[in-house]
Order: sequence, then C-alpha cells, then structure tokens
Amino acid sequence: MYDILIVGGGISGLTLAYELKKFSKSVCLMEGNYLGGKIATTKLEGKVIEEGPEEVVSSKSFMELVSELGLLEDVIKPKENRFAVLRNGKLFSVPEGIAGGILKINPELLRSAFSGLFSFRTLLRMFLEPLYKINLNYDISVEDLFTAVYGKRFVEEFFKPLAGGIYGGDIGLMSSSVYFPYILDIKRRGESVIMNFLRKRMNFELISFKNGLGSIITKLIEKIKDVDMLKGTLVKKIYYEKDYFSVRTDSKEIKGRALALAVSPYTVPVLKNIDDDAIKEARFYVKNSRIAVVNAIYDKMFKEYEKYSGILTYPEICGVSGVTFFDNKWPINSSSGPFVLKYFVPFENYIENGRALKIALNFGKKYFGLNEPIAYKVKIWNDALPLYVVGISSLKGKLEAYKNKGIFFGSAFTGSTGIYSSVMTAKGLAKQINSYLETRMQAGSELKGSL
Ligand SMILES: Cc1cc2nc3c(=O)[nH]c(=O)nc-3n(C[C@H](O)[C@H](O)[C@H](O)COP(=O)(O)OP(=O)(O)OC[C@H]3O[C@@H](n4cnc5c(N)ncnc54)[C@H](O)[C@@H]3O)c2cc1C
Repeated sequence: MYDILIVGGGISGLTLAYELKKFSKSVCLMEGNYLGGKIATTKLEGKVIEEGPEEVVSSKSFMELVSELGLLEDVIKPKENRFAVLRNGKLFSVPEGIAGGILKINPELLRSAFSGLFSFRTLLRMFLEPLYKINLNYDISVEDLFTAVYGKRFVEEFFKPLAGGIYGGDIGLMSSSVYFPYILDIKRRGESVIMNFLRKRMNFELISFKNGLGSIITKLIEKIKDVDMLKGTLVKKIYYEKDYFSVRTDSKEIKGRALALAVSPYTVPVLKNIDDDAIKEARFYVKNSRIAVVNAIYDKMFKEYEKYSGILTYPEICGVSGVTFFDNKWPINSSSGPFVLKYFVPFENYIENGRALKIALNFGKKYFGLNEPIAYKVKIWNDALPLYVVGISSLKGKLEAYKNKGIFFGSAFTGSTGIYSSVMTAKGLAKQINSYLETRMQAGSELKGSL
C-alpha cells in the first residue's frame, strides 16, 4: 500500500512526487502518455525547439525548485523581450510592462498613442481607471474585467490579440478569477489597479533553460528515481475501498491511502467512477482550448526579426494568434544561420487536415516575406490551456473540500495558468497531503465520507 497515488506525470505530478519524497512518503505515479505532459522540448535540425510552453515566470517557489535541481547555471533570460501587435497589416510596438494588465506609466506608453497602438481616447480612459469602481462578488470573464477596468476600446485595440496570443483562448470565456485574480481582488477592494502597481513593484522575469524547459522534467525524473512510476498507464477507474484507494490496470492493482489528481478536468471523464457533483461541474465549467504549435526553421532573416521577439495577432483575422522569433528571444541557438519561428494556431477549424501548417506558412510569407522553411514540426494540443467558463471560483471551493476524503486536486485541475502556478500548487499540496496522512496515522482512523 502506497501513501499516495498520483495520477498525471506533467510538471504538477512530478513536482508533487518530488516534494512528497522530502516527507519520506511512498509514492506511485501513473502517467498515461509521457512524463512532462505539456512541457515538450525537442530538437529540429540541431536546434532546441519547444512544442509546448517556452518560458516560466521566475516566482520564488519556482526558483527554489530550480536551485534544488541544480539548474541555476542553466537559466537563460530573454535577449530581447519586445513584442508587437499586428493590426490591419501594421506592426505596433507593445509598451513594456503592459502584459498581465500592469500599466507602467512611462514615455513608451505615451509614444504608443503616437504610433497608433492606442488612440488618445483609449489612453485617457486607461488613465481614468482609478475613478472606475467595480465591486464584484462573483466571477466575470476576462473580457468583461478588462472592459470594466480600462474600457472597451483597450480590449478591442490591444487586449484581444495580447491575451489571445498568450492563451490561445477566447477572453469572453476565460474566468478572471483564474487568470487575473490579483486585478479582480484590487477592484473588489474598491482600489485602483494603476495605483496598486505603482506602489508595489512587480519584479518577475520570464526565464527558460539553455537546453529548454525539458531540463526541469529531466532533473525532476532523476531526483525521484526511487518513486514507482508507471508510464503508459492511463488510469480509467479508481475504486474507493472504505479506507484506501485502488487503481486496477490490466495486470495489477495499486493501492494508496490518498489520491492526487494532477490531470486536466477534461481528462477526468475517463475516471468513470469519480463522478459526483463537483467533478461533473468541473467537466461542465472547464473546457479545453485546442491549439496547433508550428515550429519552422528558415534560412533567411527578415526585417522585423531584429526588432522584436514576437508578434501577437488577432486569430480571427490572420488565423495565427502569436509568433515567437525564437532565436532572437532566447540565446539558446546561435543567431546566425537558420533561425526558428514558432507559430500558434488556435481554434478548431484551422487544425483539421493539416491546415494549421498551411496557415502558419502563409502567414510567414505574407507578413515577413519568408519562403518555404527548411524544416518544420507541427504539434497539436487537444487539451491545451484550460478555458474556464465563468463560475469556476465557486467550484474551486467545492474541490478543496475533497481533501477531507483524501483526494487532492493538482494545479492542472483548477488553477493551471502556467508552470509556476503548477509548481506552487504542488508544493502546497505536498504539505496538505503530508498532514492528512500524519493525522490519519496518529488517529489510526478510517477515511471519512466516500466518493
Ligand atoms: C502551447 C502551449 C503553450 C504554453 N505556454 C506556456 C508558457 O510559455 N509558460 C507557462 O508557464 N505555461 C505555458 N503553458 C501552460 C503549461 O504548459 C501548463 O500550465 C503546465 O504544463 C501544466 O502542467 P500540469 O502538470 O499541471 O498538466 P499537464 O502537463 O497537462 O500534465 C498532465 C499529465 O496527466 C496525464 N494524464 C491525463 N489523464 C490521465 C489519466 N487518466 N491517467 C494517467 N495519466 C493521465 C497526461 O498525459 C499528462 O502528462 C502552455 C501550454 C500550451 C499547451
């Protein structure tokens, strides 16, 4: 009997296993596909490419993990972090610090009015933000939040491509309490977002590793060598047997005192017998966005390449939501010779029948004058980023209550908006699971409640 069964071997499940080892807990991790989940670093023509995420917010808990894994030396920072928005066939520089809804008052912001990124009316409305009070006790969409905070034109002119490019999702469906909880909290307190950010300096950076994000997965696997990892084990059923959980595969039965689900809610339907109301609700609320990632290697640079590290666009217009000028942004690969462009192509229709590749390559041709790439790789993520339908905040509370039954939900389930949040949640969960197991052991008690 294991102390804990972990379902899912992405960054959430692996970090959880690693943290639980520190408490000397016996762990069995089951992964249906391959370890690493959405973190998928690979090589093409000798170049490091990322088929999934490519950067992480250097939060305190993430950097602690990086340090423990001995990866500090491998950390790389963007060489160039300048983005542009493509609108009506024209590129507009994005002022520094505006991503994430943080409005840095600097000359660049004013210059953006002259460049045409924002109209003066939009800028004025943005500066008047402190006067707009919204006091919300319920969840609203990301689109509604930013419309209330900075106005409709800000959303149309700028925020749609920014968020669409970063999340590949529909901002009308994304829950603000999941993606921008800090902004919602400030407005709930009746305060100003601008004033809050002026007072508090938000100092985070986006980082990667010289061999790509896959380094963190490789190191985690090395550190948890003694954890039983069942790869290629797609968990379909989990039984609750009064005081333990049991997973049955074709050949064996694996038992554990507690259960952690480090998988996405839309994969949970396969866990057929965990089917009570909160989980049904999770399936209803949390939808997945489908996205194709096209990595293409070209032999010819183009004008914008030196100026920007990426471009954000309106997916409805161009069919591409964002492009990273990979080598220019990260000093991973050499800046001479062939270079990598990474296109994001969201939404259902474009992905079918290889259309994603066609769309990406046409985009490169039309906007950057690029010919056929030397090599390319297309990765389709069927459950990419969670698109939370508004209402998820109440669900989070209900899922929290499951811990009394010995079931813990990993970050991918309710709060995964990025790798740093998966790591932070996994660390918190490890402590909760440890104290649950300790209490149970001391009391010699049985599990309360049932599935
Ligand atoms: C294209 C793309 C770009 C992104 N860019 C960034 C970025 O730049 N920065 C950032 O921070 N985040 C980014 N993200 C988000 C980031 O990848 C995720 O938040 C994070 O990797 C989630 O990790 P996880 O372990 O929580 O879930 P996952 O990586 O989804 O892992 C879940 C694992 O569970 C397994 N599994 C599922 N069901 C079962 C089952 N029944 N039995 C056994 N195993 C099962 C799956 O195979 C998978 O390996 C991006 C995501 C995508 C798709």
